[in-house]
Amino acid sequence: MNNIDYQKIFLEITAELEGIDDVGEVASYIPELGKVNPSKLGIHLMTVDKTGYSLGDSNEKFSIQSIAKVLSLTLALKIMGKDMWCRVGVEPSGSAFNSLVQLENEKGIPRNPFINAGAIVVCDILVSCLQNPKVELLDFIRKTSGIDTVKYCPEVADSEKKTGYRNYALTYFMKSFGNIHNDVDVVLDLYFHLCSIEMTCKELTQTFLFLAYAGVNPITNVRVISPERSKRINSVMQMCGFYDEAGEFAFKTGLPGKSGVGGGIIAVHPGQFCIAVWSPKLNVNGNSYKGMKVLEALTSKTQSSIF
Ligand code: GLU
Repeated sequence: MNNIDYQKIFLEITAELEGIDDVGEVASYIPELGKVNPSKLGIHLMTVDKTGYSLGDSNEKFSIQSIAKVLSLTLALKIMGKDMWCRVGVEPSGSAFNSLVQLENEKGIPRNPFINAGAIVVCDILVSCLQNPKVELLDFIRKTSGIDTVKYCPEVADSEKKTGYRNYALTYFMKSFGNIHNDVDVVLDLYFHLCSIEMTCKELTQTFLFLAYAGVNPITNVRVISPERSKRINSVMQMCGFYDEAGEFAFKTGLPGKSGVGGGIIAVHPGQFCIAVWSPKLNVNGNSYKGMKVLEALTSKTQSSIF
């Protein structure tokens, strides 16, 4: 393994980033998310040989939101295999995470599984294939992470349900094209619960380390998915993990990753490490402002971009 002193690098980066605390806004379109302390900052990096490096609020749970869409995709791929790609694409959207516009021209097939429309189709697939989708999805996430205490947050799921007008619109629109096979309320109930999952930065790295280790979680030795599919999930993260800012993240950071409107980001360097950063204030594209800066500085200082 490399012998980079990540702890020292984290201290350097956070010192350099002091003074940008005023930039960005906490997501408040989901009222429950608006209650978070905006000045939180957590970082955790775990190498594939299981060495961890932490800074700040890395052991505090937060709403992982769209980061969880990587886990629903992983489970759907395991169950349905490549057949799922006729229901959802693998192209960057270049549009906002909750955009409706492309669906009209593309006959209700979302561009990728990480925009809201795509993740809702993935939830529809899981509802069709699982007997008790909420329980089985959570069980899969616990097995993937090796953490039995991972759970949904009912308050966040409820808050999303009460204000999720766009997600309802997306789902009904896709149903009109025949790309939602189940009851809209049942599909969205799974989707809102998926987005409500809470984890710490440290737990996130334990959960997603399998994508740095060809599909196996090196902590539990559980094979989550095949090496081929692990490669594909990383590719989709690289191209589509940051909505209309995916190109910018590739350009500046150069790692496959996924963000969420709770202010979390995970990024993976295959063969080396998984890192999670949490800073709740978002930029105009819905990605953590400071989180993006931390990751850009990390790969620049350590030359650990994949490019
Ligand atoms: N639950 C959020 C929504 O549906 C997820 C958005 C995100 O994290 O990108 O709007």
